[in-house]
Parts: sequence; C-alpha cells; structure tokens
Amino acid sequence: MGSGSVSDRDWFWQQKVADGLYLIRERYFESGNRANIWLQQGSHQDLVVDAGLGLRSLPAYLREAGLAGFKPLLAVATHVHFDHSGGLHHFDRVAVHRAEAGALSRGDNFEAVTWLSDGEISRRPEPGWKASGYRVRAVQPAQILDAGDIISLGDRQLAVLHMPGHSRGSICLHDREHGLLFSGDVAYDGSMIDWLPYSNVSDYTQSCKELMGLVDSGLVHKVLPGHFDTFGAERLYSLAADYIANAGVCHKMSTTAVRCIANLALRGNNFW
Ligand SMILES: [Zn+2]
Ligand SMILES: [Zn+2]
Repeated sequence: MGSGSVSDRDWFWQQKVADGLYLIRERYFESGNRANIWLQQGSHQDLVVDAGLGLRSLPAYLREAGLAGFKPLLAVATHVHFDHSGGLHHFDRVAVHRAEAGALSRGDNFEAVTWLSDGEISRRPEPGWKASGYRVRAVQPAQILDAGDIISLGDRQLAVLHMPGHSRGSICLHDREHGLLFSGDVAYDGSMIDWLPYSNVSDYTQSCKELMGLVDSGLVHKVLPGHFDTFGAERLYSLAADYIANAGVCHKMSTTAVRCIANLALRGNNFW
C-alpha cells in the first residue's frame, strides 16, 4: 500500500487512441470493475464519456495534462453504476439518460450498485481514506438525455441510443460519421451482466438486436467500451448474437439465484 498523498496527475493514466480521442483509467483502482473513461475532443466542446469512481478530480487532471479546459466540457454517464458515475460530481455539466436521472440526482447507491473494497484501491487517494465510506454523490444533471438526442461537439455529432438491459438507463453514444460507438456496459469484451437490480433480460435482448442492426448497416467500425479493450464490428456482432442465443437458456436458470444473492449483498452494505 502506497503512503503519502497522490496527485490528480498521478491518479489517472491515459493513452491516445486516435486524434482527439483518449482512453483514461484510474491507475490505483485495480479491479475488474475499473471502468474506461473516454475523452473525445471537439471543435467547440469536449466530451467525457463516464467519469470513474471520483476519488480524485478528473477535470483537474484533464486540465493539468493539457487535454481539456480550453472549451466547454460535458461529462456524460453511459449509466449510473458507481464505476462510471462516481466521478460526475467533479464536473460542472453532467448529462445522463432520463431513466436514471432520478437515481443520479438522489445519489441512489442501490441503483448505482456501489461495491468497493479496500483491496481494490492499491493506493489511498487521501490519508485515512476507507472504501467503506465511499458513496456516489448526488449530482443534478444539467442535461437529461433521450433516445435520438444529438450531442454536438462542433465538428462531431454523437447520437444517443437508449440500450436498456444491463441497467434501465444505459446508453450508447454513436458517432455515425466516424463509425465509433461508445458502448458503456451494454457491450464489452467479456460476459454481459443482466442480473443487477435494474437489469432486464428482454430489454437487453432487444438492445443486442439493435447493436447487430448497426453492424449490419455498416455504421460501426470501432467500439469504445465501458471496460477492457476496444474492438471492431465483427466482435460486437458476435457478442450481441451470443447474448441473444444464451439469454433464454442458461441465464434463466441462474439469473434468479444470482439476482437474489446480489440484492442481499448490496442491501447488506447499508447504503439505503
Ligand atoms: Zn454497469
Ligand atoms: Zn461498469
């Protein structure tokens, strides 16, 4: 365990993925739950897609690293789960889908599925910090998103796709012109999670059909997911198809039991 204070600059790690597009991660959140943070710069506005845990200030980091701060900055959460939404409170302007706007503005840590242990944080963000005190803070969204909304960065337009199933307000952001899809937890290169409190298997199946439709139409070339590495259209198609193929079989048997355990475990955290 490292000691002493850690700077915002040191807390985050970044990698340039393309011109104006950066992948950012929380260096000391060493967990399978560590989410990807994306920065897409635009000519008139910069966009942060997901905000991490919020243990250190992401906008301060972006300014110090010279990656943002020159233009208006908007932070969009692909959904309100803690690993994506915890850092939103550091931003002046935040947007989230309508279905989860209430959870965010209440600071609802049950819907945020807040689940963090000391062992996942390899260096303390501040002296005396403890995971047991961690909460997603309430944030009033400046903008409430609906399917079909366009977020304009000036030279880039991102369409909001409502893709419920993993959570009720999950969205993907689609840059149609460049074939980019910010997919959040709807699709990443790992097994999809459909057993959380606001998950819904039939919604997820429908969302996967829509993802396959985007691939069929040639509208996605690169997926920028909520966890793990980027991947291409073929992988997106097979992830979605595999989910649909299995949704009615093994999931049905295990979902009820797992959901029951998850609810008990989450309620045991005494957040609500
Ligand atoms: Zn999630
Ligand atoms: Zn996640």
